[in-house]
Amino acid sequence: MAGRKKPQAQARQNNRRGRVDDFLVRGGRVRDGVQKILSSQQADKMTVEEARRLAAQIKRKGPLAIGALFDRLFDKDPLSQRLAIMLLTEIDDPFVFSKARQLLKRPNLPEKVRVALLTIEALNKSSPLSGSLPEDASELSLDALLQFTDDFWQYMEAEEISTMWLENFVGESPQERLLMLELLMKSAHARLLGVARLEIALAAPEIMRFLAEKLGDFRSSQAARLLEILLDHPDSAIRRAAACSLNRWNERNPSGASDADDAASAVHFYHAQMATDEWEGQYSLVYAVRSADGQIKFFVTLLDRWDRGIVDCWGCVRYSEQEYDKMLESMAADLADLRQRDIAKHTALTLLTKAMELNAQRKHPLPLEFCVWLHLFENEQFEPDPKVPKFGEDCDICHKPLETGPRRAPWVFGNMVVCNRCCDRTLHCPNCSEQTSLAECLLRCDPGNRHVIKCPGCSHSLEMPT
Ligand SMILES: [Zn+2]
Ligand SMILES: [Zn+2]
Repeated sequence: MAGRKKPQAQARQNNRRGRVDDFLVRGGRVRDGVQKILSSQQADKMTVEEARRLAAQIKRKGPLAIGALFDRLFDKDPLSQRLAIMLLTEIDDPFVFSKARQLLKRPNLPEKVRVALLTIEALNKSSPLSGSLPEDASELSLDALLQFTDDFWQYMEAEEISTMWLENFVGESPQERLLMLELLMKSAHARLLGVARLEIALAAPEIMRFLAEKLGDFRSSQAARLLEILLDHPDSAIRRAAACSLNRWNERNPSGASDADDAASAVHFYHAQMATDEWEGQYSLVYAVRSADGQIKFFVTLLDRWDRGIVDCWGCVRYSEQEYDKMLESMAADLADLRQRDIAKHTALTLLTKAMELNAQRKHPLPLEFCVWLHLFENEQFEPDPKVPKFGEDCDICHKPLETGPRRAPWVFGNMVVCNRCCDRTLHCPNCSEQTSLAECLLRCDPGNRHVIKCPGCSHSLEMPT
């Protein structure tokens, strides 16, 4: 009888061991489960949405499952390692960073794993280090970084690399960016030209000088287009270097014909639609293209017709047709109060071109987010759509250019648009001696004949101020 009852202390110990064993068994099972999921995936064919879904699925399984992804970083197969990096970059969980830190402290950590861990820290949006290069990066040999990044980036689209540059490196000093650019652009791969375009928009002189020389090494015709922009640079040394590079490029591409890089990055128009906010003078425009591998890239941009041109932009790559349709559906629900319709390619291009001209005319720099996507349409030839209204209108009362202030947009009354200053103008009614604002009068007058204004108090006809 006594034998059946274990002493208390021993029971507790066994229980604890039981829990540890349980945990290990369960851990093994979770890890096996994750390995099974991963072995059926191909990193090079996965869309961003698929990667996000898979990352969310693994995150739900908890730290043990995430740990299985870290195991994969040690894998000899670069594709398997690549997949783990892709997924760990998409998981916003503090465990990812504590685990990465813990591994980084490990002695004899293979160089490739170390770079992978630092890459995850740099790319993960919820990383506490996001926005600055981790200090440990200085311990890396630069050659190892280059070796790795080159590998790493062949699975990324140009727009993803540009967006990563925008989100993680644009805040660094020009000197530091130059150091990275020198490394990254050694291979002169077309995928990096989006970064070059962003840097041209940022216009740091030392980087302009570097690009004016370096762009001559690229084979893609995009490089020639960027060099043409630099031919107009105010600094004569930069202009000279760009002219030299352009000669070099032309010698190697005598017919100006597109090469293999161009063929790989070629895209075809897929779909465009817009939502119109007449009152605000704004359009939300979606422009989608299909790339050589059949996947869809698109950007969504906000256009301001009165004053600011291109205001904002975001975009995505690697969407399937179904994922794209779903995105449109959810956007249609968000913009349900606006008029939405599919538009023809030449209409979309007319809108984009007019908006960009307004940016230039009113000296509002193009948003950097927009520069990431510009190359998807800038070479398209098209007949302008005459139905697209004018961009950059004047106030119908004072005839000065309309401005879209930070808080108030111009007012639309029927077919008139009136600047804030005019709206606020005080009118004095000689009949009832009341004071009123022009906006008050316009709100109350006959929509078909806004030029005849009346006192809102006594309906006496008032003179339209000039
Ligand atoms: Zn005005
Ligand atoms: Zn009156």
